[in-house]
Amino acid sequence: MPTTALNQTRNDTQAERRDTPEQPADAPARLRIVLSRPTHAGNIGATARAMKVMGLEALTIVAPKPGIFPSEEATARAVSAESLLQQAQVVDTLAEAVADCHHVVGTTARLRHIGPPLLTPRQWAEGAVARPGQQLALVFGQERTGLLNEEVDLCHALIRIPTQDGFSSLNLAMAVQILCYEWHLAAGGGLPEPLSESPPATAQELEGFFAHLRETGDAVEFFVRKNPDAVHRRLRALFGRAGLDRNEINILRGFLRDVQRKLPGGEDAAN
Ligand code: SAH
Repeated sequence: MPTTALNQTRNDTQAERRDTPEQPADAPARLRIVLSRPTHAGNIGATARAMKVMGLEALTIVAPKPGIFPSEEATARAVSAESLLQQAQVVDTLAEAVADCHHVVGTTARLRHIGPPLLTPRQWAEGAVARPGQQLALVFGQERTGLLNEEVDLCHALIRIPTQDGFSSLNLAMAVQILCYEWHLAAGGGLPEPLSESPPATAQELEGFFAHLRETGDAVEFFVRKNPDAVHRRLRALFGRAGLDRNEINILRGFLRDVQRKLPGGEDAAN
């Protein structure tokens, strides 16, 4: 895709995002993902991709292993999130990466005896979106060692992604994906409401249908054979659960009209 088309898409996406009331306009910029001392180029690229699909943009890389960034492998793994890599900040220390942040949260596969409070990803995300206007950082440790104690000391809280007991270490970019997903959900990025072409039925429309159903059921002697009131009440409950819209009520009533037309004494009875 030519660069201009890429930029256009990016601008369109931003415009849509700003128009969505649940998603604060500053949400993408105010959460910074910080990778501390990564050693695999592929994880940097995959992190950029994991961020972009969840609407995040700000990536800071602390002291990457020499030669891995920028690199062809990182770019290849970023797929269409290459712009995040181009804009990424590279700094020497974690302290520098989070200096302007109001809330710094580390992520860890290990339980630590002493240290900041431990949160689940969801607890963190719900608290984080409730800090409008603040610059936030999520810090991820090195692939093999995780966060060093000195790095944990710079964090105000820690997140551990719950796993089975014996093996808790996720791939770095996969851990990033889970956290970015929780942020996206908490910031109002759930699935859109399905588009309905018809408004929901009103109480009056529903009552009209139930009366019609009762009348038709009586006419075909459906209800008289059973306990009529109890059966009718069950049918009301069933259609109540369905959440009918006006269109669906019209279809059902059209069906009942056709049944009535065919009955003795109905419009079609003489044919
Ligand atoms: N042996 C290391 C594992 C490092 S995995 C350790 O015990 O921490 C690399 C990074 O991925 C971690 O530093 C952390 O940022 C993230 N990560 C991996 N598994 C995680 C988990 N279960 N919860 C939270 N973050 C995790």
